[in-house]
Amino acid sequence: MQLRAQKTILRLAETFTISRSSEDEAEVVQVEIAHDGATGFGEAAPIARYEESAGSALEWLEQVELGDDPFALDAIFDGLPPGEQAARSAVDAALHDLQGKLTGLPVYRLLGMRPDGPPTSWTIWLGDPDDMGRRTEKIADRGFKRLKLKLGGRDGLDVERVRAVRNVTDLPLMCDANEAWTLDEALEIIPQLGAPQIGIEYCEQPLQAGDPDGPALKERSPVPIYVDEDCHTLADVAACAERAHGINIKLAKSGGIREGIRMAYAARALGLGVMLGCMIESGLGIAAGAQIASLMDHVDLDGNLLLAEDPWPGLGFVDGVQRPSDRPGLGVERA
Ligand code: MG
Repeated sequence: MQLRAQKTILRLAETFTISRSSEDEAEVVQVEIAHDGATGFGEAAPIARYEESAGSALEWLEQVELGDDPFALDAIFDGLPPGEQAARSAVDAALHDLQGKLTGLPVYRLLGMRPDGPPTSWTIWLGDPDDMGRRTEKIADRGFKRLKLKLGGRDGLDVERVRAVRNVTDLPLMCDANEAWTLDEALEIIPQLGAPQIGIEYCEQPLQAGDPDGPALKERSPVPIYVDEDCHTLADVAACAERAHGINIKLAKSGGIREGIRMAYAARALGLGVMLGCMIESGLGIAAGAQIASLMDHVDLDGNLLLAEDPWPGLGFVDGVQRPSDRPGLGVERA
């Protein structure tokens, strides 16, 4: 099999702000793997928080040897160098896309899964409370069934932010503090957000990853806690049961679809909820997640919808669900 990789810039429709950073564009790496007249594609969305970049992904990809059997996934992944989860997930996605094209089947069917998962949330990124309320009103007619609010402004206004959004929508809400709060702050803020007037359904990563107060927050929070920065691969899942009620699986952290599936089942065995998240990704990256979305309780796959233009169209957006197409492989094509 022949592997090629290149860096691509994705431009956002609007500046995206969270508690750590602000961005207008995202660098991803697109991978193609050719074999027997077919080509599979996959996308890596490297996460700066974990010291990955397009450059480090490309360096890792140069060392990858794939052999000549695109169905021998265990053998291929056992032979890959360590690290670089996003680049690994692009290889995993491209191999699944290739398998689908070689067999004429969409990936979700190869995996034996259903095409329909829960509706995706739409992200209201961090801003002033008024601004977050205005942006919520602006997307009212776009068909989203739930909203995810980025919090962690470190200015005492996080409850106001959610209140401003709740004032203009009845949609189910969840929030993501991206590690911004201490235990005391979380115990002050989360009960207010969970109260009936606001009613957020769950809160993602309130504390810094590894914060020793995690188990205390799980015990005392009136709202389910989901962890993201605390949970990357299968090896992290068991420890998350001590500090959270659920995990946020992202293919850019897990290293791909297969590890994402293992994580979902391990989480279920531990009584945890499962959510599927994403980074800023084109339809190529999001299509990989959409194949396994039916395993999840919650889905946050809005990365391609945040772009000025999606360079890899093909996913369906039906009743708020990011639905994989019925075409072979990941079902998206370069525009
Ligand atoms: Mg998150």
